[in-house]
Amino acid sequence: MHSGHSHLFIPGPTNVPEAVRQAMNVPQQDMRAADFGDLTLPLFDGLKRVFKTTEGEVMIFPGSGTSAWEAAITNTLNPGDKVLMARYGQFSTLWVKMAEMLGLEPIVVDVPWGAGVPWKEIGRILGRDKDDEIKAVFVTHNETATGVVSDIEAVRRVMDECFHEALLFVDGVSSIGSLDFRMDQWGVDLAVTGSQKGLMMPAGLGILGVSQKALAASKANTMRRAYYDFADMRQFNKDGYFPYTPPTPLLHGLRAALGLIDAEGLDNVIARHARLAEGIRRGVAAWGLDIVAEHRSLQSNTVTAVRVPDTVDAREVLRIAYEDLNCSFGSGLARLAGKVFRIGHLGSFNEGMALTALSLAELALVKAGAKVPLGAGVAAASGWLAHGAQTPDKLVLAAE
Ligand SMILES: *Cc1c(COP(=O)(O)O)cnc(C)c1O
Repeated sequence: MHSGHSHLFIPGPTNVPEAVRQAMNVPQQDMRAADFGDLTLPLFDGLKRVFKTTEGEVMIFPGSGTSAWEAAITNTLNPGDKVLMARYGQFSTLWVKMAEMLGLEPIVVDVPWGAGVPWKEIGRILGRDKDDEIKAVFVTHNETATGVVSDIEAVRRVMDECFHEALLFVDGVSSIGSLDFRMDQWGVDLAVTGSQKGLMMPAGLGILGVSQKALAASKANTMRRAYYDFADMRQFNKDGYFPYTPPTPLLHGLRAALGLIDAEGLDNVIARHARLAEGIRRGVAAWGLDIVAEHRSLQSNTVTAVRVPDTVDAREVLRIAYEDLNCSFGSGLARLAGKVFRIGHLGSFNEGMALTALSLAELALVKAGAKVPLGAGVAAASGWLAHGAQTPDKLVLAAE
């Protein structure tokens, strides 16, 4: 048995703030009561602020990010539709699989794991699709498997440049609430997230931003669905109700989590993620190790995927961290297994956690046989946090 705190540095589920945990400790309540909307209606407004949409709607489904994705597809597309998908990590890979399982015909653009969305190639393919046979473009904003953030605005630009009518689907599961995300400005039609990442909650809610264009598509499409039906959901949601029993304690937790984001200010939340992520990256660089993201502009501020030296098995680093140090890091997924471990630094995260993550990772790396200078990562990160990153403005200057 371990004594003391255990440490969770995985990119989801993330650490739940005490205020959110306490808020979920409520008696069960009547979900048909006249005042139920007092709890639920402000949640939709709060989520719209986080998604940065005023024109679109937000839906909350029991489930997880994956269920919201399924809802997005089955409510807006038709069997046999051609869809354009970019694949550059395990999560974008899973979306291709889902699209196939649901009877879509994905056109897949593969790029190396560590690269971001190939928006130029997407633009070329859409440019040749003169009859708009491609009905949707799917992009993973933050590929959690590789720690790569992609340029969604660039995707929207190439779509607009060829006047393409496809819907834009964006997986924002590990970005929304932590990274700059602008549903309206980027013309995102379906934006997906889950409760257990940037929103600092347990898993259990699949949350979806839906544009007016996607709502219009949902009225004409023919894919089958039952539980995750937009029309049913909207019919009830407009008065603050749900078509089936909602997980009420999670809704209380969401209210508290949105309250924390509002109190800190979304821009400050985003700047905090940038500041702490830079500290983590400087720590990793001081170890002499590489990260998976191929270019500075692609580095994620929510998760860092660290390549271990060739002589070390990353699974051993993870095992030692877990068994000896009571600490979890994210594993290398699929083709990155054994080569990579991931540090999740999103949601309820601060300086103390960043430095602890680095110091425990150093210990686990050294115990696993890596020649990492003990203390170097922590020193580099502390240097950044002490001198480089005082305010969001200075952060930008210092990062250049
Ligand atoms: C976690 C994650 C998912 C999966 O979401 P679930 O809530 O586990 O269903 C999908 N995409 C990305 C980018 C993720 O980080």
